[in-house]
Amino acid sequence: MSTAPEYTASSSSSNAPSACPLCGAPEPPQARLGTEPFPLFECPACGVGFVYPQPSPEELARFYDETYYGKNRRKFLNPVERGIAALTRLKWRRLRALLKPGARMLDIGCGRGALIRVARAAGYEAYGIERPSPSQHDLPYVFYKDLAGCRFPDGHFQLVVLWHVLEHLANPRATLEEIRRILQPGGWLSVAVPNFGGAQAEAAGRDWFHLDLPRHLWHFRRRSLETLLQKSGMRAARCSTFSFEYDWYGTLQSWMNRAWADNNRLYSALKGEPSVRGGGKFARLAGASVLALPALGSAVWDAARGQGGTLTVTAQRT
Ligand SMILES: [Zn+2]
Repeated sequence: MSTAPEYTASSSSSNAPSACPLCGAPEPPQARLGTEPFPLFECPACGVGFVYPQPSPEELARFYDETYYGKNRRKFLNPVERGIAALTRLKWRRLRALLKPGARMLDIGCGRGALIRVARAAGYEAYGIERPSPSQHDLPYVFYKDLAGCRFPDGHFQLVVLWHVLEHLANPRATLEEIRRILQPGGWLSVAVPNFGGAQAEAAGRDWFHLDLPRHLWHFRRRSLETLLQKSGMRAARCSTFSFEYDWYGTLQSWMNRAWADNNRLYSALKGEPSVRGGGKFARLAGASVLALPALGSAVWDAARGQGGTLTVTAQRT
């Protein structure tokens, strides 16, 4: 049963939090970046960023519509989808090294199930969880409900994958404690989040692509994520700050937001959204092709200094 503190939202946006909801440090969190109507605060002790007050589930549901998930069971244009599938196979090779043959694993926030398909083809017992939505894919082996509602037995999985999910959750600590419960002793969690302490976030400020308010309710840097893992009964064993697709694209889109007030419309174009068509679409794709190589170089340079745009932590149940 979770011992995580309840995160209670106030209906008044003029309220400021009196203490950090993640680490409990008594120093008052500071307002950051002027992100009204979804104010972002940062804890001076653990460095976590968080939206306060947290919007209600009903209000947040408006930001998870068909535009977010993609129509016709496809999120991006076909070449982008193929690139993502190839990168998933590379990431699977690193995860597989942690696992016993045929082990049972769970991908929380599995999206279109790419990782599950690769793992199953390799003989592993892989399952997924995804938020129910009108455009859900109805994949086999995927539960369209929240983690607690799945009622998995204790110690059921050798690996849980939690990529780009934690920052969306109302109460990340409660979810990590549930993950600990369903992991075998010594089992692994692979967790990835945008890096609030990375050079990309620092340089882009309000224009940072991964700020994504209010869907990203939390923003972690390395010490805040490791604090949260430790409080949840897990130990960070490895940390990397480079993710090829997230960091390259995050740098590129953040630059376009900063230089041309693009407001993530390149991203909309890559998703094939009808709001960005014709000349606007081609101008963006042309701008992106000019900036693509410098953005890749910048993302690799940030990661080489330990300040890349994505934190990926491999943690073990203690
Ligand atoms: Zn804190």
